Amino acid sequence: MREFVVIGLGRFGSSLARELVDLGHSVLAIDASEAKVQEISEVVSHAVYANATDEDALKALGIRNFEVAVVSIGEDIQASILATLILKEMGVKTVVVKAISVLHAKVLEKIGADRIIFPEREMGVKVAHSLAAPNVLDYMSLDKDYGIEEVAIPEKFIGKSLMDLNLRVKYGITVIAIKRNNELIPSPGAETIFENKDTAVIVGTRKGLKGFGDKG
Ligand code: ATP
Repeated sequence: MREFVVIGLGRFGSSLARELVDLGHSVLAIDASEAKVQEISEVVSHAVYANATDEDALKALGIRNFEVAVVSIGEDIQASILATLILKEMGVKTVVVKAISVLHAKVLEKIGADRIIFPEREMGVKVAHSLAAPNVLDYMSLDKDYGIEEVAIPEKFIGKSLMDLNLRVKYGITVIAIKRNNELIPSPGAETIFENKDTAVIVGTRKGLKGFGDKG
């Protein structure tokens, strides 16, 4: 079990906090709105009403002892930046911050945010990939050329082994895991044979992923 602080309980922050709790972790949730704190208080380990730009308040909550803090304040960019700065200066090892614009992200990077996320943009990319190729179940960009995808196996691959299919040569993609009946088969060997309803987690170039996806 790990301990997280989530600051800002809008749609993103509260859904993140709830999921962390479901995954078995301890969450201290903070918001400057009493109503938001009230709403989540039954779900998380601790919910506190505080202003994240108030350094003394954060110190009193013992936040320096947390390994990971997530700042999910959107509209008030100034509060998001100040809270990030305070958390980094207090020595929180990993500070993850939601950004709402490129400029916001640039400032966050300069003041030491460890990870900057654009939830709407990232979700937009994922949904675009699954709409463009309906057998793509999930997509994650690694950089501008490479990505990881979870795809439903094209019917004509069923009953064939990874060796037979030679996917690395044909599409420039590598199968890093197979999901079968809710179980994960990590790093499947060349002799692994695809079965009906398998999904594969594959890594490769965008072109390779598209070529593989179009087979479905
Ligand atoms: P989402 O899209 O995730 O719903 P958002 O990007 O629209 O959220 P806001 O609604 O502006 O972001 O802020 C998210 C939450 O952060 C709100 O519940 C707000 O009360 C809280 N918040 C804003 N400023 C502070 C602050 N200084 N300290 C603590 N919480 C704050």
